[in-house]
Amino acid sequence: MAFNDGLNMGGSYYAATANPAPEHAMLDGEVDVDLAIVGAGCTGLSAALHAAQRGMSVAVLEGGKVGWGASGRNGGQVIPGLRKGAVELVAAFGRERARALFDLALEARALVGELIETHKIDCDFSTNGHLLAAVKESDVADMAAEAECLAEVMDYHEMELLDRAGVQKQVASDYHGGLLDRRGGHMHSLNYALGLASAATAAGASIYEHSPAVSLSRGALSLVRTPKGVLRARRVLLAGDALLHGLEPEANNRIMPVANYVVATAPLANARELIPADVAISDSRFVVNYYRLTVDGRVLFGGGERYTPEPPRDIAAFVRPHLEGVFPQLRGVAIDHAWGGLVSITRTRLPHLGRRGDVWFAHGYSGMGVILSTLGGKLAVEAMLGETERFDLFAAVAPPAFPGGVALRAPLHVLGMLWFALRDRL
Ligand SMILES: Cc1cc2nc3c(=O)[nH]c(=O)nc-3n(C[C@H](O)[C@H](O)[C@H](O)COP(=O)(O)OP(=O)(O)OC[C@H]3O[C@@H](n4cnc5c(N)ncnc54)[C@H](O)[C@@H]3O)c2cc1C
Repeated sequence: MAFNDGLNMGGSYYAATANPAPEHAMLDGEVDVDLAIVGAGCTGLSAALHAAQRGMSVAVLEGGKVGWGASGRNGGQVIPGLRKGAVELVAAFGRERARALFDLALEARALVGELIETHKIDCDFSTNGHLLAAVKESDVADMAAEAECLAEVMDYHEMELLDRAGVQKQVASDYHGGLLDRRGGHMHSLNYALGLASAATAAGASIYEHSPAVSLSRGALSLVRTPKGVLRARRVLLAGDALLHGLEPEANNRIMPVANYVVATAPLANARELIPADVAISDSRFVVNYYRLTVDGRVLFGGGERYTPEPPRDIAAFVRPHLEGVFPQLRGVAIDHAWGGLVSITRTRLPHLGRRGDVWFAHGYSGMGVILSTLGGKLAVEAMLGETERFDLFAAVAPPAFPGGVALRAPLHVLGMLWFALRDRL
């Protein structure tokens, strides 16, 4: 099995509909670069693009295939902001800092739009909005408070609070209300990542596939070794997210991988009756259901998490009840694709951007990385070039390590997660 093709990525909707893309050779021998990047997801690829544009020599090591990590297998939901909402941000950091963090996160949305346009990335980018749907009556009041805080503190006026009938115009399912963000949307995630890769190589970056970084040693020049080669670099960016494993415990123990599963139905004749305005939707459950249409009329639906390392034997059967719970009218629908991936979450649900000497990291977007990862890579490069202010905004609120470190984070956290998941069911 290749490095990042687990959980049936090869059977995913994204792999089946990927744009043609070049294969990249394996690293063989020694190469000197200004910047070595570990991981060709959107964090690493965005960093590669921005670094190459700024005149750095760059090499990206990818253990498997470009974009086959979380970046090319996610729900494709474009959700402006951070996992921590505006109300929570203000409570935690005060108005000024909360606003600065939120502004940066919003920039991610603009940056992704610009990159898609500039590099003509063909990724079905749809900008009709993102709807957060309320599963409980009390969620609606929370959403009203969030919209008010966004308008008042963040000067963000793109939110529309919808009542039950308003939500039904957006989606043929029953919710108590919802919050529509007009700057949201969805995209074909793998094609976006492949487009970033091609922009990065056009700018001069080298990408090596099937080249897992197996060790990292620091010095005046850091050495990143793969089974057949070594990169010697002044700076290293670790952009492996949930797949980074043991390469850098200091970074790795701040995130926890949680497996999440996705299906795509067969194309449906009545797809637009289900989601008439073609918005992306996620609901307010702790174990979120998230879904959207694809350009060929499928419902692409993510739902259900598992905190145990073993994936379900039949991913489609695992996700189906969640899909049919939202759309009872799809009972028995044919499911063409089913796959899974690892979402990296942090304890604060804020991303972890930081550095130790010349080794930098950006990861842990906590389920919001479709657009934040592109920003994370760019901010890391800016900071390497001495423009540290924006990177430091996130670095200053770096999430703490999971108690128990890498060995114990899962069992301890699982207990907490299961409790919240149980509350959903109750
Ligand atoms: C199922 C699923 C659904 C999601 N849905 C959404 C969504 O709808 N909206 C949203 O905003 N976010 C979503 N996310 C989160 C989002 O996809 C991630 O936050 C984001 O893609 C992270 O990007 P990345 O580049 O940091 O990591 P990745 O895309 O995972 O890239 C890391 C890369 O590094 C490589 N790598 C790791 N270690 C090494 C090593 N030692 N050597 C060489 N290569 C290595 C991996 O193979 C991988 O290709 C979802 C995630 C999953 C898994």
